[in-house]
Amino acid sequence: MTEKIILEKKVLSENDRLAMENRQLLQAQGIVSLNLISSPGSGKTTLLEKTLTALNHEIRMALIAGDVQTDNDAQRLLRVGGARVRPIVTGGACHLDARMVAKALAEMELSGVQLLFIENVGNLVCPSSYDLGEDMKVVLISTTEGDDKPLKYPAIFRRARVMIINKIDLLGTSDFDMHRVIDNARTINPDLRIFSLSCRNGEGLQTWLQWLRELTIKRS
Ligand code: MG
Ligand code: ZN
Repeated sequence: MTEKIILEKKVLSENDRLAMENRQLLQAQGIVSLNLISSPGSGKTTLLEKTLTALNHEIRMALIAGDVQTDNDAQRLLRVGGARVRPIVTGGACHLDARMVAKALAEMELSGVQLLFIENVGNLVCPSSYDLGEDMKVVLISTTEGDDKPLKYPAIFRRARVMIINKIDLLGTSDFDMHRVIDNARTINPDLRIFSLSCRNGEGLQTWLQWLRELTIKRS
């Protein structure tokens, strides 16, 4: 093995150990946790704004928002209110790792929290390799992207349990084909649960919200 590969293996196994500690901490408190992963601009922050606003009075939510620079997204989410928000500015790193999340969790008030969202850094490549201790990865893709993304970035579509297709209000304005993207995704991962929605006009949002309700009821 080259030295680079040996070093990468060491980093990942250390990450897995810390991720397991995060998972134990979250599960002990009965917190369901979702790790949101997408390219930049797919609408993770907007989806979270809509979700926090809609479920604010029903579910106690917390959120860790990662960004390479600036805590702009975390500030946007703080303004929505109703959730405990913790920003992570990675200062260059293009993904969150379990150590960053452990540090954020240690600084957060978690008592009573039922649902934790982790907004990963906008990137479809390395976030797929880093277990953060979440219950499941959720991959977002929007209709302004290529419908071949599941084929180009198979690792994240294989590891995610859920895929959200956002911006369906823009369908028809590009070559993006709904059937093709779903076929491509199911080729990689036949078990993916798929939601299609528009954060802009609200279409499909209720199905996603209802799924979150059921997810947190099951745990508590
Ligand atoms: Mg964002
Ligand atoms: Zn990275």
